[in-house]
Amino acid sequence: MVERVLSGQPASTGLAAGPLMRLTPAPTPMRERVKHAKIEHEVQALREALSRAAHQLQTLTEHADTAASDVIGFQLALIEDETLTQPIYEAVRCGQAADTAWAGALDDEIEHYAASSNEYFRARASDLRDLRDRVLDALFGDDAAPMVRHGAVVVADDLSPSAFLAIDWSSARAIVLMRGSASSHVAMLARAKGVPMIVGLAGPIPEHASEVLVDAVSGTLHVEPTEDDRRRFAARMEGEAARRTAATRRIREAAVTRDGVRVAVRINVASLAELDRFDAAACDGIGLVRTELLFGEHFADADENTQYHAYRRLLDWCAGKPVVVRTLDAGADKPMAGITLEHESNPFLGMRGVRLSLARPDLFRVQLRALARAAAHGDLKVMIPMVTTPRELEAVRVMLAEEIRQLERAGIDARMPPLGMMVEVPAAALAPESFDADFHSIGSNDLTQYVTATGRDNAAVASLADPLNPAVLRLIAHVAHHGAARGLEVSLCGDAAADTAVLPHLLACGLRALSVGIASVARVKAAIADLDVHASMSALPVDVALFSSNHDRRIK
Ligand code: PEP
Ligand code: MG
Repeated sequence: MVERVLSGQPASTGLAAGPLMRLTPAPTPMRERVKHAKIEHEVQALREALSRAAHQLQTLTEHADTAASDVIGFQLALIEDETLTQPIYEAVRCGQAADTAWAGALDDEIEHYAASSNEYFRARASDLRDLRDRVLDALFGDDAAPMVRHGAVVVADDLSPSAFLAIDWSSARAIVLMRGSASSHVAMLARAKGVPMIVGLAGPIPEHASEVLVDAVSGTLHVEPTEDDRRRFAARMEGEAARRTAATRRIREAAVTRDGVRVAVRINVASLAELDRFDAAACDGIGLVRTELLFGEHFADADENTQYHAYRRLLDWCAGKPVVVRTLDAGADKPMAGITLEHESNPFLGMRGVRLSLARPDLFRVQLRALARAAAHGDLKVMIPMVTTPRELEAVRVMLAEEIRQLERAGIDARMPPLGMMVEVPAAALAPESFDADFHSIGSNDLTQYVTATGRDNAAVASLADPLNPAVLRLIAHVAHHGAARGLEVSLCGDAAADTAVLPHLLACGLRALSVGIASVARVKAAIADLDVHASMSALPVDVALFSSNHDRRIK
């Protein structure tokens, strides 16, 4: 009997129901193109195809959000990269057909990226495939976008970022991929657009299936539902929609639990453009600026003034509320050309975060100067990622003080900002008292990966990477306890803060400040309003409760 409920990995949360629409890629290799007899005409054909593809990408950027712009920006940069295109033009000048030369060069690049042991680079391979096909379509004069039926659930083997962007998502409802991973670019685009998505679906969808229910909360796909299934699912969807509307209506209210505990809800920021889509009054400030994403691949080119103006913009937007800017956290799943090391045997245990910044003082001092200058204009705090030993934080403090002295000598306004650290390495979580930090922010993504020994980019062990593991909770409670005893703020800015199943435990551990993505603020605030912290405490594993008991009494 064919399985009616298939499981996969949820990659963008939400529920959707609708007719199933399979997207099958066009069999591009079968196409035939007649090469121009004159070499200069063939060169011109390639030039026009590249410029047509660039124009299409530019048009897509105009309607794209931040995540989509990143993907398109990567593809545009490649089209404009002469180190890629010049050898292709050369090959055409030597008599190769434009499509053969282009496809050959791109296939080599794709193979290189796809073979990488790094999930991030593997994800980039699909961006390259996508670009290869877009230019080939332009050369073959065949650039049609897929037509998606209204209300459809799109099912595909895998999907390129631009195929995703070419779909009208106000019409289609959800997407299910047989392959893919939650950290791919398509998944990132789906999350940014709020399109429910399941990836890595186990088992084929029966040929005859025409209707599906997508539960991208748990990652299950219900095929050919019965009338009863449909009714139950519709009730769930209605409940979800009502909850979302109610939460959004109250987004400007402060987050307070049912038993009166105030929780600061701040936002995680990856780009300045995000701020245009969010009401500053709806949050208690910015709890994490990921500067490796803020400047992206251009970090090394972002000079002191460029960075200074970006940090000022964050402060202006917050209008007096705190802004926590994290210094560059490149490395591991966030490689950066020219900055991070290649071929590390285990990049998550290698040169990343502050380790890399200290090894590149040329880049790090620029960032520290820009931060110190911005700190003179508002409540800016500087946060250091991946701190493992007190010496690292001390080295940063010394460098920051040196840069401030130099700025002052030059008559430039600067201020020593509060200097805090991410607590995401077990060595720091076990001994927070050893560090001279002005505040702590727990990075539950990395802390969970390191405590449970599960790579955060590895779908095969995703179920073990559980922030509710008592060992992880015990460390969180320990850090919160230490902060309360010393009067230092401890917040949490990893994905666990937006997980409403984990939230009660975080508050019960003693945390009173969280930082989440802008799409999660309303939901998290509503979940907090529904909680009773003191009741949650009694549900904690006993030894965790030991660390967190009397928390509220102590901090009052
Ligand atoms: C974390 O590790 O939880 C965190 C917030 O940092 P990042 O996800 O950027 O590593
Ligand atoms: Mg981290």
